Amino acid sequence: MLALAVEHTDDAVMITRTDGIIEYVNPGFERITGYPAHQVLGRTPGFLRSGAPSPGFYGQLWQTIRHGRSFRAVFTNRRRNGEIYFEEKTISPIRDLNGEIRHFVATGKDVTERMAAARHLERKAHYDSLTGLPNRSLLHDRLHQAIQRAQRQGRLVAVQFVDLDRFKIINDTLGHATGDRVLIEAARRLRGCLRATDTVARLGGDEFVLVQEDLEHPDTAEQVARKVLDTFSDHFPVGPHDLCVNVSIGVALYPGDGADPESLLMRADLAMYRAKEAGRNSFRFFESALDAGSMRSLTLEGAIRKALERREFSLVYQPLIDTRRHLPLAIEALLRWHSPHHGSIPPDHFIPLLEENGRISDVSCWALREALRQTRALQEAGHPQLRLAFNLSGRQFRDPGLVHDIRSALDDTGFDPRLLDLELTEHALTDNPEAATAVLRALRDLGVQLSLDDFGTGYSSMALLAHFPLHSLKIDRRFIHDMERDQQAAIIVRSIVGLARNLGLEVAAEGVENRAQLALLQELGCHRIQGQVLTRPLTPDELGAALPPP
Ligand code: C2E
Ligand code: CA
Ligand code: CA
Repeated sequence: MLALAVEHTDDAVMITRTDGIIEYVNPGFERITGYPAHQVLGRTPGFLRSGAPSPGFYGQLWQTIRHGRSFRAVFTNRRRNGEIYFEEKTISPIRDLNGEIRHFVATGKDVTERMAAARHLERKAHYDSLTGLPNRSLLHDRLHQAIQRAQRQGRLVAVQFVDLDRFKIINDTLGHATGDRVLIEAARRLRGCLRATDTVARLGGDEFVLVQEDLEHPDTAEQVARKVLDTFSDHFPVGPHDLCVNVSIGVALYPGDGADPESLLMRADLAMYRAKEAGRNSFRFFESALDAGSMRSLTLEGAIRKALERREFSLVYQPLIDTRRHLPLAIEALLRWHSPHHGSIPPDHFIPLLEENGRISDVSCWALREALRQTRALQEAGHPQLRLAFNLSGRQFRDPGLVHDIRSALDDTGFDPRLLDLELTEHALTDNPEAATAVLRALRDLGVQLSLDDFGTGYSSMALLAHFPLHSLKIDRRFIHDMERDQQAAIIVRSIVGLARNLGLEVAAEGVENRAQLALLQELGCHRIQGQVLTRPLTPDELGAALPPP
């Protein structure tokens, strides 16, 4: 019975002497290895070895079984036809009646298919199937390890965030198959810019991340960034097309810009965003707003992280008035931060900080709800048509939760979406017009109105303006400020008013400080006015008192 069982089992069974000489193999062994019994009896099993086991593997095997214990492992072996296979094997000593080890018995299963499936799964979990590059999760692991090594060796790690410019246009106009080929080629070119030990990963979409290890100097990162820009300056021949694909790159360095993968990636992303703002096809190193001008205090960074919980933010409101009817059309919510340690900090300083540390969405979410609530109270107190204007920073456009956050803020406060104006900057739109269009459409579908703030300072083209579902333009206060003395500025203001009219958009002027400016704007046909000449931003209480009685 025992002999029959051994003969008939699917597993490979092999019995050797203590010196390794094979005395018996079963038909399962013959089938799995491809060697007939007569070719292997009297030999040692070395012929099954595939080459490179990890050092010490066989030493450990022998030590274990000679000490009377079983050894179990997956062996990488070679069949008679040369094929590599994986064998899950248990080798056990057999003792004679005196308790002495006389033989070893090895039973093995061919687990090649199972291993292949496991590897496939592992690849799928860690690699991007289109380009074969590591995906986000493997990138995190690698970056984490790179940081630990750099910490021990006192070296730098550079994280470069690479984003293809205008990729969506290729995808939409030439189809996804073409888009895929561009991504594959982009991956190939990026790989070519780095050493084999560095990492190129695809985060998804048209976003790639390069990790350079073991740097002594930031210059090396700069060289790679230039090399990438240079590599992408060659056209992409894809089928019948010769495509021009540029990239924008943001670089963050360990340890200066962050000590963990998340903050390095976020800051490289932010630097990339700044590169796009500056006109694409370029690279930027991350620069903290803290290093700029007077804001050198690192404690400010710590302070702003806690400012929301500590209720240090508040809102003031500046009315936008239609001078023909002397009617407040809207009130614009403006954020204020009063820190007990640092005093009042202007939004132009702290908003970049919030963008940097990823808190902008949280703070903006709070601010929107607060503003909707306070404006709603004013509407109910006798100003039912009063609109709220609310600023969105360009950075928030990259937040996939933006539309959802705004929708739920509207729902939760019961605010009529038709009375909300969202103010966006040109940068938010020109950075990634394709993505911005989708967001703007989704916002318009909520029923809110959209206006372009600081108009005239960015690079939006006529075509873009007509393309976006906008409702109004707000002329940047710098032009208003200059227009009395500077002929150029006056011409720009006049042109914007004409442009808006021709595109069927409303036009407003901000930062109007005196009567002369006011008169000039009215002459030009701009009647929506905001600025100190009418009123400075007011607290909610002041505003309640200042609004004309219902
Ligand atoms: P902005 O949207 O262009 O806001 C108008 C700015 O002009 C405000 O500065 C306002 O106080 C100021 N201003 C009002 N009247 C006059 C005037 O007669 N002359 C001059 N020269 N300026 C006047 P503020 O409050 O310091 O805000 C600066 C910027 O910070 C805002 O520019 C806006 O881009 C940003 N900001 C403010 N609150 C928020 C917010 O809640 N979210 C976001 N994302 N950005 C905000
Ligand atoms: Ca504004
Ligand atoms: Ca503005």
